[in-house]
Amino acid sequence: MVYGDWGKVAARKHAIHEVRAEENLRSKVENSLAAAIISGELAQGELVTVPALAVRFAVSATPVREAMLDLEKRGFVEPVKNKGFRVTEVGTEGLNELVQIRCLLEPPVMHIVAEHLNGASLASYRAMADRIVNTAAKVDFAGYLAADSAFHLALIKLTGNGRLVDLVSELRKQTRMVGLVGLRNTEELEKSALEHHELLDLLGEGDGVAAEKLMVHHIGHVLGWWAGIVEADDSLNA
Ligand SMILES: [Zn+2]
Repeated sequence: MVYGDWGKVAARKHAIHEVRAEENLRSKVENSLAAAIISGELAQGELVTVPALAVRFAVSATPVREAMLDLEKRGFVEPVKNKGFRVTEVGTEGLNELVQIRCLLEPPVMHIVAEHLNGASLASYRAMADRIVNTAAKVDFAGYLAADSAFHLALIKLTGNGRLVDLVSELRKQTRMVGLVGLRNTEELEKSALEHHELLDLLGEGDGVAAEKLMVHHIGHVLGWWAGIVEADDSLNA
């Protein structure tokens, strides 16, 4: 580095900052749209246009267009010639496959997680579970999905298997829960939010068997409540 040339250094720093800001904008727009699509706030089949979204987000068209391309890769939207993008329909088969894979991965590791949390302080996990309950009560679906992911991934991280964390994160990003929007202020949304505290109760007691069972039940909401389908009340006790 040439120490006398501060102008150039400052300019370079500034350029790097702008690139980051642009990328942040793109991922913020993508995350926000993804949450709206996952939760059903943006309905299946709904047509969206880049200019209209740019106005709504108060950003230029570029980050919105780039975010739409990322969402297309995730299978959340498809281009409609000269019109914009359409939110894709949720395929039952695809959703079943996701739930099946997630049930193979997430519940069994609760045994390892329970060993780590047995008798340990759960304060930080309780705070994360509170956030899920609070965002559900406020009907903040983007906040709810972020808090829910943060909670589950933090637990899985206790296995020490970074690849598993990445894999589950990826599967969660693909899981559509379009029934969430219909669960505004319902007992079901409150109940499923409170399950995170129930899970912590079991993990804190070192009860891996019950925690595994609860996780199977919890992920099952993807095909039930979170898909807008009524669930049998006794499914957990069956
Ligand atoms: Zn959850």
